[in-house]
Amino acid sequence: MKKNKNKFFKIVLFAIIVIAIVAVIGFLGFKQMKISQTEGEYRSFLKVYESQVVNLEKDTSLAYYNAINSGRDEDFAKSTKLNLDLNNIYLNRDTFYKLKAFKDSGYIQDPLLKRQLDMQYLKFMTSLADKKTVDELTSMQNDLEQKFYTFRTKYNGKSISDNEVEGILKTSKNSKQLKAVWEDNKKIGNVVSSDIIKMVKMRNSVARDLGFADYQKMALTLNDQDPVEMDHIFDELDVATKDAYTQAKGEIDTALAKQYGIKVSDLRPWHYQNRYFQEVPPGIFSVDLDSLYKNGDVLALTEIYYKNLGLPIDTLVKASDLYERANKYQHAITFDIDREGDIRVVANIVNNNYWMHTLLHEFGHALYAQKADRQLPWELRVPANIFTTEAIAVLFQDMVYSPQWMKEDLKMSDKEVAAISPDALEYNRLNALIFSRWTQVMYRFEKSMYENPDQDLNKLWWDLVEKYQLVQRPEGRNAPDWATKIHIVETPIYYHNYMLGYLYASQLRHYINTNIVNTNDGHPSYSGNQKVGDYLVKEVFAPGARYSWEDLIEKSTGEKLNPIYFGQEVVKQ
Ligand SMILES: [Zn+2]
Repeated sequence: MKKNKNKFFKIVLFAIIVIAIVAVIGFLGFKQMKISQTEGEYRSFLKVYESQVVNLEKDTSLAYYNAINSGRDEDFAKSTKLNLDLNNIYLNRDTFYKLKAFKDSGYIQDPLLKRQLDMQYLKFMTSLADKKTVDELTSMQNDLEQKFYTFRTKYNGKSISDNEVEGILKTSKNSKQLKAVWEDNKKIGNVVSSDIIKMVKMRNSVARDLGFADYQKMALTLNDQDPVEMDHIFDELDVATKDAYTQAKGEIDTALAKQYGIKVSDLRPWHYQNRYFQEVPPGIFSVDLDSLYKNGDVLALTEIYYKNLGLPIDTLVKASDLYERANKYQHAITFDIDREGDIRVVANIVNNNYWMHTLLHEFGHALYAQKADRQLPWELRVPANIFTTEAIAVLFQDMVYSPQWMKEDLKMSDKEVAAISPDALEYNRLNALIFSRWTQVMYRFEKSMYENPDQDLNKLWWDLVEKYQLVQRPEGRNAPDWATKIHIVETPIYYHNYMLGYLYASQLRHYINTNIVNTNDGHPSYSGNQKVGDYLVKEVFAPGARYSWEDLIEKSTGEKLNPIYFGQEVVKQ
């Protein structure tokens, strides 16, 4: 009896195991079937999607390229129309819900498909916003921009432009005059501040439609950036730059006070030779690099530099529009027209330092676009994030300060290099340091403003300026000085991307110096070093958006984005 019972249990146990195995196999088979079925459906979706957007995106970039090069109204009208057509596709809610269903299913597992889906999900999320509010916001923003463009500072009874204001701030040595110009220039704040607060609240309402606490969190998330991680990076950057900045600021203050014949404790915002103290006050520290290019050819230098790096740019140069012309756009910009290799740089070359570093910058963007792996799906043939291409541009533009660049590319003698390069490097260091503290103010101000637009923003602004830039607020001042910075209207929650570009550039430089070129030179230009070109193509350009920016940075440098390398570069040597 006992023996039989044992046998019975064994049979039951065996049966249970068999059933369990069959169930697991069945489940896995079912899951596998669902995965391949859903991935198949998503592939079909992609075909339709690409048939809608690929050519339209191409036509839209081409139209904008033509418009800024011709300056003609009809070209701008065509560009605006195509932009609206494109927006209408991305504002399709049904498409968003399709993408959401794919995402929620958990059955899109192929890494390239999953990455495309994640990117499209963020792109289409804005379709959830109330269309009427979005339209109102657009017209409100246009009106505000108009007010900025037409505002003129009064000076000695006449109207002057912002460029003229900057000119006076840079050259006048009279504190009373400086204060008067600075104060009058800030009057735009009173003209726009209440409308900006209205706009901020409307942006927040759009963000809430999409399920975000406020617009700052929404804007970061839609740009694939986690708000908590961003806070953390800016906190780390603060720690990494605080001591170096305090020291540099002390030296700058001493020099400025001497120039103006006042005490350090009497320095006020109008003494920093720039409306926001975003850069080195040119009156206390400048270096004449223009003379290095006066009789040179900055385009030829750019071509030779990249060629020797193993990254020839002749086809890019041929496709580009590089010289000044009537009615043409006056700045520099790079277009990836079709993600198939039609890449064009727009510039207005003059043989000076500005255009030297701007060409290195723009062709850095162009190469990043050109070298994206053409086997990647269309959606992923873009940089991992807007700031990763900025990092490459910054990495290359900084070469103009390198002693190696001066020696090998500009063929300067050792003596000539020794005479100018210490100042050039110090100038670049101070600029980066000062800019980083200014971005702290912008980042933290916008974050806090969107969190609570009803707080005392006038006070918040000056609290942050005093804390991060160490610039003392004018006594008793209670005015919307924060509202004078047009970026808050035009390109909200964008400033941090400039800074992230610098941070990744520094991290890449550290990685390349340590692992690719093994150099002791603190500021190499990598001139003629094809290993550097190969590394950048393989590890940064080719992957396009195959990986998230976090993964790209970790794969290309062995660690997560770390502000410490920027911090090390801005410490005085
Ligand atoms: Zn750029």
